[in-house]
Amino acid sequence: MKGGAVENNRHLASYAAQPQASRGRLVAEAVPQFRSEYQRDRDRIVHSAAFRRLEYKTQVFVNHEGDMFRTRLTHSIEVAQIGRSIARALQLNEDLTEAIALAHDLGHTPFGHAGQDILNECMRDYGGFEHNLQSLWVVDELEEKYADFQGLNLTFETREGILKHCNLDKARQLGEVGQRFLLKTQPGLEAQLANLADEIAYNNHDVDDGLRAGLISVEQLCEIKLFRRQYDVVKEFYPDISGKRMVHEIIRRMINDQVADLINNTKQNLSKHQPGLIVDVRGLPEPMVSFSTDMRDLNLQLKQFLRQQLYQHYRVQRMSNKAGRVIRNLFDAFMAETKMLPPEQLHRCERLESRQGEEGRARAVADYVAGMTDRYAIVEHDRIFDPSALT
Ligand code: MG
Repeated sequence: MKGGAVENNRHLASYAAQPQASRGRLVAEAVPQFRSEYQRDRDRIVHSAAFRRLEYKTQVFVNHEGDMFRTRLTHSIEVAQIGRSIARALQLNEDLTEAIALAHDLGHTPFGHAGQDILNECMRDYGGFEHNLQSLWVVDELEEKYADFQGLNLTFETREGILKHCNLDKARQLGEVGQRFLLKTQPGLEAQLANLADEIAYNNHDVDDGLRAGLISVEQLCEIKLFRRQYDVVKEFYPDISGKRMVHEIIRRMINDQVADLINNTKQNLSKHQPGLIVDVRGLPEPMVSFSTDMRDLNLQLKQFLRQQLYQHYRVQRMSNKAGRVIRNLFDAFMAETKMLPPEQLHRCERLESRQGEEGRARAVADYVAGMTDRYAIVEHDRIFDPSALT
């Protein structure tokens, strides 16, 4: 009996993703007995090697800077938590939302955005590097553990949600999952929602991590309306509160504020457009899951603040710069001498090179470097460039 699926579907709105109406997997498989199709996707993601590596990959701060900061693993869990709450409130599919949230950053390089930017530069002549596309590449190709197929063979809906952005050139090469970029249609609501849950999660935890690292201050943040609003509320209820307890009370209210706005505004959008099924959602001219205009403006102010005061802080810049050099050095070294790649990687590199020439070699090297954790990249860098590490 498909108990799980039946139980779930009772609570779903008509326009939610229904597992039994999935557009399916690239390789057809039997319907799971006790789970829905999206639960199976989520489970495969959790058991993947790329998911485990998220523990040692960072967003803004380098992993070994301290254990107090978010990693991509804890970030992905936060996105899943926020996403599931919103999905339940909107009667959307929680399992699908969770699967997308847990997979959305699988393609990230070590060292956060700094790593991705440099790898993209390294790959400029070979089709570039983009972390969204890489996340799809991880679940479609790079995970090698099932006997019957390459990758994790996820459902169309999960893959659609993972591929948030894509340029038209790439979209043409991707088949079904790239079509919406060519036709300018929308993804399902769970994909739209996971995307904004990501934004809520990282804006708020970057405030938290930035404060903890001493790179930004409560005084500075009081200039930011979204923060100030909740600061005033907390101070009114608890006049003597301070330190990390105060920060947490503010941030949890900021998250709540954004989540409530997203739910209410999306409900309004849905009642205005009245989509019947997921196919109607896809055909609408704009996404249905969105913040109100007011909240969008408030978010923008916070993002600009974080960009100027946190991401461009000289200490973050130093880390990013150093991280970039590690990535570039590794890429250049392996491109120049592929025999330094571990056997499995070398084998893959030779296979791709025989099919696609230098571009294939570059892709294999980029896949290897992108898959590294922060600390593994640093260790590999030492092994290759530090003359005293002759092992
Ligand atoms: Mg993310």
